[in-house]
Amino acid sequence: MAKTNLLGYSSRQMEQLMIDLGEKPFRGRQLFKWLYKLRQYDFRLMTDLSKESREKLHESYTFEGLNCTDIASSSDGTRKYLFQLDDGHPLETVLMPDESGRRTICLSSQAGCALGCRFCATGTMGLLRDLTVGEILGQLIHILDTNGHGSVTNIVFMGMGEPLLNLDNVIEAVRIISAGDGLSISAKKVSISTCGIVPGIIKLADSGLKSRLAISLHAATQNKRAELMPVAKKYNLEKLFEAIRYYTGITKDRVTFEYILFENFNDSMEDVLALSRLIRGIPCKINLMAYNPVEGLDYGRPSEEKVDWFGKLLYPRAPAVMVRKSRGADIDAACGQLAARQIPGSRSNA
Ligand code: SF4
Repeated sequence: MAKTNLLGYSSRQMEQLMIDLGEKPFRGRQLFKWLYKLRQYDFRLMTDLSKESREKLHESYTFEGLNCTDIASSSDGTRKYLFQLDDGHPLETVLMPDESGRRTICLSSQAGCALGCRFCATGTMGLLRDLTVGEILGQLIHILDTNGHGSVTNIVFMGMGEPLLNLDNVIEAVRIISAGDGLSISAKKVSISTCGIVPGIIKLADSGLKSRLAISLHAATQNKRAELMPVAKKYNLEKLFEAIRYYTGITKDRVTFEYILFENFNDSMEDVLALSRLIRGIPCKINLMAYNPVEGLDYGRPSEEKVDWFGKLLYPRAPAVMVRKSRGADIDAACGQLAARQIPGSRSNA
């Protein structure tokens, strides 16, 4: 009989498992700590559990990570991991070290994505399915196990998929990531990035999770945004900003606006003014970044000078502006490019 994989089990689920094995609930919390905090996957070496429980766990359970099939390394230190899920779907995760010593992992929340943003390789794949809690955590655990525990300082849900469309699993994964006896990475170091799913923003605000919220804005007028991101037709700028105000009001936290600059599309003085009007009164910072082009898609990359020019004009009109370097351009590190190669009919730089 196949063993049950405990990857993704919560502390509560492990308590129940140990109760079912005839143990006290606190044994489940010990098991949780062994697996996520100490990352000891051999049940027989969990010395504070009874010998009988260890044997039963060994017989029927396992804790198995994801199957990594390819790693691409960039000259700037960025690494892109390609995984193959049990049902054959491809999944990718990016680890990005930067000059300040931060090592940020970009996690995927879905295999593929239904939202079809016009600039995104993942959007050309369509939605394959939501990831389980275990598949979300498995990306991080693989990198911690192969690079060392301190190898990740920050986490962003900005890989394949729209995290607010798989929100229950994302929330459960963040709870395990931030638990003191779990992976022990503060929720404040976790940023969940959305293309603007209004009900998800409200639900996240009400969830009590201490993670951060990032909004992929990319355009400051309704027409341009709807052209880039079809989801903006359903959740227009007015509804989106109503939800953002609700979020900042409840959490007392600022949001981050991600604004990718596309050449001659959203990089003019008019766009600076529209953006500064839109964010007025919102506690926020804005991350600017030049687009990493995807072959076959319609958008171009502005020069670094143009991005700096845009940032300098925006800076006095916004609470905080950061110009981010796009990373891993030589390994197709834009979201979904590596995995898109695996899907017939989707586009990548292959
Ligand atoms: Fe989906 Fe994000 Fe790509 Fe949009 S940018 S298609 S939400 S993965």
